[in-house]
Amino acid sequence: MAVDLTHCTLCPRECGADRTQKQGRCGAGMLPRLARAALHRWEEPCISGSEPERGSGTVFFSGCPLGCRFCQNAPISLENFGREVTVSRLGEIFLELQEQGAWNLNLVSAAQYLPQVVEALDLVRGRLGIPVVYNSGGYEKVESLRLLEGYVDIYLPDLKFMDPALGTDCADAPDYFAVASAAILEMVRQTGSLQMGEDGMLRRGVIVRHLVLPGERRDSERLLRWLAQAVPVEDIFLSLMSQYTPCRPMERKALNRRLSTFEYNWVRDIAQGLGFSGFGQERSSAREEYTPPFDLTGV
Ligand code: SF4
Repeated sequence: MAVDLTHCTLCPRECGADRTQKQGRCGAGMLPRLARAALHRWEEPCISGSEPERGSGTVFFSGCPLGCRFCQNAPISLENFGREVTVSRLGEIFLELQEQGAWNLNLVSAAQYLPQVVEALDLVRGRLGIPVVYNSGGYEKVESLRLLEGYVDIYLPDLKFMDPALGTDCADAPDYFAVASAAILEMVRQTGSLQMGEDGMLRRGVIVRHLVLPGERRDSERLLRWLAQAVPVEDIFLSLMSQYTPCRPMERKALNRRLSTFEYNWVRDIAQGLGFSGFGQERSSAREEYTPPFDLTGV
């Protein structure tokens, strides 16, 4: 796929922005914009590990093609907080995280900067020896994901909602499920089944994350049933999350409250019945520690 950033169609929004002149709908210009690059201990255990002095080498990119209204990273995803860096500096940051002891390089919401990320990974080829994790909202074009083939070892996509009306209400994205379902199949095609290291860390594969939304457990059920028939359940991990936090007024009344324990357990039981393995969240941990300070650390 030839990437023309003077008429950007990298993501499903296909806004056509000339990024040499102005930012696209997602907030991206020509240079990668970052809010933080540091070790992070709050991913799934096979990504972050358990040693307190280590963690996942997480690079938070600013802006987002999807832009969920309830995003817990709103200062960077919706408000585009961050600082631009050159591609060569981005490569240096990758190596610095490796030197700090990162288990892996974890690229968070990088879809709008795919060509620059690939260029930076090429610059550090042969020096970066840790797995590359691509951490995504799932709203990705298959042809853009193909740019990452051979670069990414672990995909960490969200699978958020199936109902087009829910996609519209949460992110102006009625096509979210059509897009994300195809993206997940492409991710599984690229990585193949799960490969764990002897240290218990994931080396290769896909972890699908699903945040259970208050009032929408039936949508969660439909998503999980789709996933279980689309992909062998033993080939992926499922990470079922509960930390939904209302942060701005939402039209759907239920989205203005937290998830109940009943709702989370109801969806968890369905996931277990379908044979998924993976990770759950203790309801008591659904708090701010999952959101690191966006203060340009490491940028
Ligand atoms: S990545 Fe950004 S600039 Fe490119 S099409 Fe999507 S929203 Fe527009």
